[in-house]
Amino acid sequence: MPESISPDLQALRARCEAFAGRLRQAGSAAEVRQAAKDEGLFYMTQPRDFGGTQASPLALTVARETLSRYNPPFLETVFGPSPGVLGGVDEPLRSSHLQPLMAGEKRGSFGFTEPDNAAQPTSAAVDNGTLIINGQKNYVTGGADADFINTLVHIEDLGPSMVVVDTNLPGVKLEQKFASLDGSHHAAFTFTNVQVPRSHIIGEAGKGLPRAMRQIGDTRLLFAAQASGYMLWVLDFLYNHLSAADRSGEPRGNKDVVRWHYAEQRIQAYAARSMLYRTARLADSGENIVNEAMACKVFATEAVGRMVDTAIQLVGGGALVDTHPLAALYRKVRAWRLAEGASDVLRLNIGRGILELGKGRI
Ligand SMILES: Cc1cc2nc3c(=O)[nH]c(=O)nc-3n(C[C@H](O)[C@H](O)[C@H](O)COP(=O)(O)OP(=O)(O)OC[C@H]3O[C@@H](n4cnc5c(N)ncnc54)[C@H](O)[C@@H]3O)c2cc1C
Repeated sequence: MPESISPDLQALRARCEAFAGRLRQAGSAAEVRQAAKDEGLFYMTQPRDFGGTQASPLALTVARETLSRYNPPFLETVFGPSPGVLGGVDEPLRSSHLQPLMAGEKRGSFGFTEPDNAAQPTSAAVDNGTLIINGQKNYVTGGADADFINTLVHIEDLGPSMVVVDTNLPGVKLEQKFASLDGSHHAAFTFTNVQVPRSHIIGEAGKGLPRAMRQIGDTRLLFAAQASGYMLWVLDFLYNHLSAADRSGEPRGNKDVVRWHYAEQRIQAYAARSMLYRTARLADSGENIVNEAMACKVFATEAVGRMVDTAIQLVGGGALVDTHPLAALYRKVRAWRLAEGASDVLRLNIGRGILELGKGRI
């Protein structure tokens, strides 16, 4: 196979295929979560010292791509919470937030994006051992149900830092709950003189941006793996559609223009998967993949968007009925060109990486 994976990873792929088949009958997120725990997939994203199996980037790529290929329901609940920016934190945050997060007793969220018209970035003054935080975050996924927000805060004299802000603190206000086109749920918060102990700074003060960007970087490869899996689902779906006869009795795929589009989709999927597996392998060998993960995310999320759009065109109006799987996928994948870094901004970062820092592979 083109991605030449080891026998262990081939076995993982087979397990994921069988699991995805079982998921089709799943009736609830809770049922899927329990099944994922029984199968061991749930623990792949969790560190060993919290009872997880801490799978490598390549193994996670194989698992996520394979599951997405079958487009099962409640896919987002298969993998357990990963530490994210809390990875490797010391006490007291390890016991107060990381441990309960890993045990599923607390829910975390990520507060990075701010409204365009914010007067100033979310900031904190320091009063003895206390941070006094003021500001706003307007796109916190899962924020309405979260116990805490890992928040990017500009701390006076120290610089941008990631800080754990509990959502039940006085001064934390949930301003708005909303859903995006893909069906995921988010919240907007304001912080008014929120008092947080200095010990809630995650890692080194002033080093919040690289920590946040590391989490976002890890997520980018994940997006590319999912996008790649959904491309395979579209190809399978269209294969069946194009192999069936239309009103003339001829297979739909006999028309040159239809065949051309399908071939183009296969080229896109081949390119996306080649990039993805090469990058996941580089990550497994400990290489820095910041630029390559951005390239994979931009390419795969844009390619899957075009593929789903073309697939709808080839299938016709029936694919626009809002319960049709292609309509649902159209809504799902659109968000990925903005979430975890807008495509335009990532392109600029890749340009900066090579022109100013001499970084990035071809
Ligand atoms: C489903 C989903 C989940 C999300 N979850 C979270 C979350 O949990 N936490 C969180 O903090 N955020 C989250 N976000 C927000 C997401 O990170 C932002 O939408 C994204 O980073 C883009 O920022 P923005 O929306 O402010 O748009 P802007 O930054 O205003 O960008 C809009 C457009 O402006 C242009 N642009 C912007 N900056 C530049 C630049 N420097 N150079 C050139 N062009 C530029 C680009 O064309 C860009 O596409 C989520 C978004 C989505 C869609």
